[in-house]
Amino acid sequence: MNVQKLVQDQKTSYLNGSTRSLKARKGVLIQLKKLISTHEKELCDAINADFGKPYIESYITEIYTVLDEIDYHLKNLSSWMKPVSVGGSIVTFPSKNIIYKQPKGTVLIIGAWNYPVHLSLMPLVGAISAGNTAILKPSELAPNTSSKLKELFDNYFKPEILAVAEGGVEVSSELLSQPFDHIFFTGSTRVGRIVMKAAAENLVPVTLELGGKSPAIVHKDANLEVAANRIWWGKTINAGQTCVAPDYVLIHASLKDAFISASKNVLSSFYQNDYLVDKNYTRIVNNSHFDRLHNLLQKSIVILGGISNKNKRFIEPTLVDASWSDDIMKDEIFGPLLPLLTYENEKEIPHLLNKKTSPLALYMFTESKKFQDFIIQNVPFGGGCVNDTISHLGNHNLPFGGVGYSGMGSYHGKYSFDTFSREQGILKKPSWPDPDVRYPPYNETKLNWFKRLFTK
Ligand code: NAD
Repeated sequence: MNVQKLVQDQKTSYLNGSTRSLKARKGVLIQLKKLISTHEKELCDAINADFGKPYIESYITEIYTVLDEIDYHLKNLSSWMKPVSVGGSIVTFPSKNIIYKQPKGTVLIIGAWNYPVHLSLMPLVGAISAGNTAILKPSELAPNTSSKLKELFDNYFKPEILAVAEGGVEVSSELLSQPFDHIFFTGSTRVGRIVMKAAAENLVPVTLELGGKSPAIVHKDANLEVAANRIWWGKTINAGQTCVAPDYVLIHASLKDAFISASKNVLSSFYQNDYLVDKNYTRIVNNSHFDRLHNLLQKSIVILGGISNKNKRFIEPTLVDASWSDDIMKDEIFGPLLPLLTYENEKEIPHLLNKKTSPLALYMFTESKKFQDFIIQNVPFGGGCVNDTISHLGNHNLPFGGVGYSGMGSYHGKYSFDTFSREQGILKKPSWPDPDVRYPPYNETKLNWFKRLFTK
């Protein structure tokens, strides 16, 4: 693939106005909806072939979410696109002042492997509705899904409007060297740094959707049964390979034993001790991730679970007794291991969490509004839930994105439209009147006039 030519063709097509009108944007969104609905099963089968994800999980998290996002954009796009009139100022009187929402131009979207359809197409919906042409680079670690997306996009879209570029680091690096008008990257913090450095060469704006260690805090007044259900649900979908999975549990010391027995009940009710391939439980994506997780497992004190099988790339959901200095607490786990840590006094929580870089998500289980406010005000994190995990992603009225090491910028719903648009401020002035107070030659009389009229 000639990457440079593809980018140039997309830039020409953008300049020709092929993606700018409401009709053109809606047309591409409807075509994308058709692609997903028609080939839903092929896409879910490809994801399953890549890492054994159950059909129902793929349908809900990869197909339904994107279809729902497209419908939301189709419904609201014309109002989002409208220029917005704003007030003038006394200095610019008389004038009309308008903010136009302009597309950025030609954008690059680089996806991660763990939700290989969602993480490619969800930002793409925003790129299309904002009127851009776009190149998508799905992850090479989900090769069946990547090649299925390539095949479908080649059939459904003209490459000068939307194209899929398949490949690994080499293709990604070549794409990153091009003068895109925006780069939207989902992946690790390590690669996020590489993306930002490459973007700096051409001064390309970036959105970085990265990872991190997202805590689940269980306060002393929590409904433990519900907390255990929802934390384990968040940890076991996609076998914990979710950017916003609860990475570890920080629980009030008085509840530790009760949480362990609630966890036992939850896991046996979820899986009946039988982790059916294809039906209930996802596999680890590849051997190197398996080895990384297995290594952490071997160094941990297992409370529940702990079974693994390399041939099947299977790791059982596992609760481990942990302390802040353990290896498992160093980096994002990105797998079904759940460290359990305790606190005694809520005042220490911000200090304990500050030992880690700012997380993408934070979850707290509590009925206390005071405790909720205390955590929300005192701990930096991207977004999260009270008494739930992960479901903040399901509401397109909420911005989704990280802070600090977990990323910059946000998307979903109108936030996606805004991410891929730029705001252009225009002042429209009539030709009359044209007082000469601002023009040279300057003199004392003009200065006094100006002061009298404008200085408060
Ligand atoms: P990754 O950073 O290894 O890869 C992401 C993408 O970057 C892939 O398309 C890959 O081809 C490309 N890439 C890899 N190395 C590169 C390099 N040297 N130069 C240029 N491009 C390169 O991430 P991953 O393993 O696919 O995904 C897991 C990570 O992504 C986790 O940290 C997870 O938390 C994060 N993630 C974040 C979100 C979010 O929405 N914030 C969602 C999913 C995953």
